[in-house]
Amino acid sequence: MKLQFLGAAREVTGSKHLITTDSGHTILLDCGMYQGKGMETDADNRDLGFDPAKIDCVVLSHAHIDHSGLIPYIYKLGFKGDIYCTPATRDLCQLMLTDTAFIQEQDVRMYNKKMDKQHPHKEKGSKYKIEPLFSQHDVDKVMRQFVCYNYDRRFRLFDDVLLTFTNSGHMLGSAICSLEIFEADEPGGKKRWKRITYTGDVGRPQSHILPSPMLFPQCDYLICESTYGDRLHDATDVTEEQLLGVVEDTCIYRKGQLLIPSFAVGRTQEIVYVLNQLYNDGSLPQIPVYVDSPMSTNATEIFRMYPQDLSDDVRDTMRYDPDPFGFNTLHYITDIRESKALNHREGPCIIISASGMLEAGRIKHHVANHISDPNCTILLVGYCAPMTLGARIQEPGLKWISIFGMDHRIKAQITKIEGFSGHGDYKEMIDYFTRSLQVEGVQRTFIVHGEEASAAAYKDHLYEVGFRNISIPEKGETVEL
Ligand SMILES: [Zn+2]
Repeated sequence: MKLQFLGAAREVTGSKHLITTDSGHTILLDCGMYQGKGMETDADNRDLGFDPAKIDCVVLSHAHIDHSGLIPYIYKLGFKGDIYCTPATRDLCQLMLTDTAFIQEQDVRMYNKKMDKQHPHKEKGSKYKIEPLFSQHDVDKVMRQFVCYNYDRRFRLFDDVLLTFTNSGHMLGSAICSLEIFEADEPGGKKRWKRITYTGDVGRPQSHILPSPMLFPQCDYLICESTYGDRLHDATDVTEEQLLGVVEDTCIYRKGQLLIPSFAVGRTQEIVYVLNQLYNDGSLPQIPVYVDSPMSTNATEIFRMYPQDLSDDVRDTMRYDPDPFGFNTLHYITDIRESKALNHREGPCIIISASGMLEAGRIKHHVANHISDPNCTILLVGYCAPMTLGARIQEPGLKWISIFGMDHRIKAQITKIEGFSGHGDYKEMIDYFTRSLQVEGVQRTFIVHGEEASAAAYKDHLYEVGFRNISIPEKGETVEL
């Protein structure tokens, strides 16, 4: 078989790897979008490096857009095959791809407007204008091609190809994808089952709402992520106390508002769950908590539908608290008027809203309204890419910041809790791999989904525990297995 790396090679977005078996089947592992600000990544997304009409099927590790975002785009270009994933991944894709189509259409409209201004003499429909990658219509159509299998069910993609999903504990529905392909090492040789495992993204051993990553079957070839290949996280068990500390300091002692920018899917549910636990044990102060995001509200509904894929802790809680993502002082807000009304609200409260990096969404308005209030705290709970508003407000000593074109004096407290990461650090990942695999049985390892420095450090760490033939493929590189 051939394995070609078409994205997330020495970088963290655009995951796409193409397997072509000797018998001619083409299997695409993930179909992720390159993510960046606005239209910067548009050209990378349009240039797939393969013909979608010739792909037999997609194996999807999880619903994050950097792994699933181009599925409607390949549909538009002629992909007719099945998309295999877990049931929760399918449901989350429906929500997230719809949202992506909407953002796409909005970005393209703004870009075309700008182009119109820059080229006023060009006629309408000029070559400067671009079309969205895909529309809501493409999302609706491609959702019919999803075929779902639960974790740990070994199933047949083709006569000579088997697939098993294992829970990777990274997000609801996320899976390690273990493929078995029946073929010979050389033409005419004796056929054997070759085992190739793609990790997708790997979670942490102690997440609040997801189970620890589950042990996965032995493989001959491993394709593994390396987001935190050069880093170690703080201990997770202190995050609840840290969160309670920030709530008390802001809402009780300073009587201010606590704003938490958070990704709508995954992180928001985790924060809400931790607050729910603090509420249940009586330590959360009696103050209103608002989840101000239609997307978060819809995603939470999906989390409630899959208790079997969540942690034992969540299921234990559900024995006495049927809704671990809701409590008496918590309100989900979808209506835009209610969201705007929050701006005029007096007194202490907690507002959780997207986006996590403060680049867009309702939270940006809340931050603009409160960043000059010394009693307010802005609590960051996730990674913020450089140059995003979330990263800029953390610059030490910064006194002023521009939001929506207006300068604001920074008087609010800006603070951060690291423990909520969805990716295992190198020690956690390696511990997981060495428990799942007989390392000496793995013939080759490919490191993907990490910045160059992170992938290089990770290679050394893998070598130290006995992995051999480790490479960090370049984009477009093909290997014969
Ligand atoms: Zn992910």
